[in-house]
Amino acid sequence: MDTILVTGALGQIGSELTPTLRNRYDKVEVVASDLDPDPGVSPPYEPVDVTDRSQIESVVEEYDVDTVFHLAALLSAAGEQNPGRAFEVNVEGLHNVLEVGREYGLNRIVVPSSIAVYGPATPDNPSERTIRTPTTMYGITKVLAENLGTYYHQQYDLDVRGIRLPGIVSHETRPDGGTTDYAVDAFYEAVDEGEYTYFVREDTRLPMVYMSDAIDALIDLAGADESDLRFQCEYNISALSFTASELSDRIEERIGRFDARYEPDERQSIADSWPSTLDDTAARTDWGWSAEYDLDRVVDEMVQNLQRGAE
Ligand code: NAD
Repeated sequence: MDTILVTGALGQIGSELTPTLRNRYDKVEVVASDLDPDPGVSPPYEPVDVTDRSQIESVVEEYDVDTVFHLAALLSAAGEQNPGRAFEVNVEGLHNVLEVGREYGLNRIVVPSSIAVYGPATPDNPSERTIRTPTTMYGITKVLAENLGTYYHQQYDLDVRGIRLPGIVSHETRPDGGTTDYAVDAFYEAVDEGEYTYFVREDTRLPMVYMSDAIDALIDLAGADESDLRFQCEYNISALSFTASELSDRIEERIGRFDARYEPDERQSIADSWPSTLDDTAARTDWGWSAEYDLDRVVDEMVQNLQRGAE
């Protein structure tokens, strides 16, 4: 890797992945990009709308990019509000990146997928090839994205890789537009207000991962030997699995009084369609995945960081 382009770099993952890549690889140039023409972040930054192939091409050409972390996407709840745009960004945007990858002979493209590829027909603890019948536009676009990545690998020998990420818990950039956002919102509201109204039921259990583990997973997968990989874009990773009420209990143990209420909205049916745990044997075997953070450690770090930020 000499030059990395991160698309969607201003989002929840990109805002932490970009500085981590810059710190870890000081000889590699990491170009951040997103829709905002002038976000005031550390350079190099270039505005790139991934639905416009020429914008991707000009940055790849200008910086001689060889690796892409393609994070630009509309997430599950945002995708249900605007399914057409979700298709454009998540499928056509990826198709543009893959076409540019083919045209310019890029070395590697990393594309996060999501547990949203699964659906109500999926049994709990699915492995990579367990049935995927998503009910959301987001999930449908992610199945297409996984299959597109695999196709470009088979047909054009383009090295496309990805992980089905679960919900991500983090304290740098507050998430928006996802179904697992409550697992982050609860911390912010608990620390700021001492209360939070979840948009899911208290018994909702979903798989989650702490941001630093998710970033390590993306970087480790990007660096794995191609010959060790059995899958392209479909690797499950498993780290945490907790209910909304278990999370509330842990937060309350740390901060004292926490008034949690549960008023499920339309995102409940999305949450109900996803598995609560994942079988990640392949990621452990093929590229050495394992999570560092358990729920206690996540709650400690989240509360400490948000309390420090609130001071
Ligand atoms: P995010 O919504 O926080 O960030 C996405 C970024 O993409 C935003 O900054 C947005 O401005 C940008 N974007 C939207 N349309 C664009 C376009 N046309 N061109 C360029 N940029 C555009 O999302 P995130 O949480 O950082 O997710 C990154 C990737 O990880 C996505 O592929 C997502 O599906 C996947 N993922 C995230 C989670 C999670 O919990 N955060 C879970 C599973 C998978």
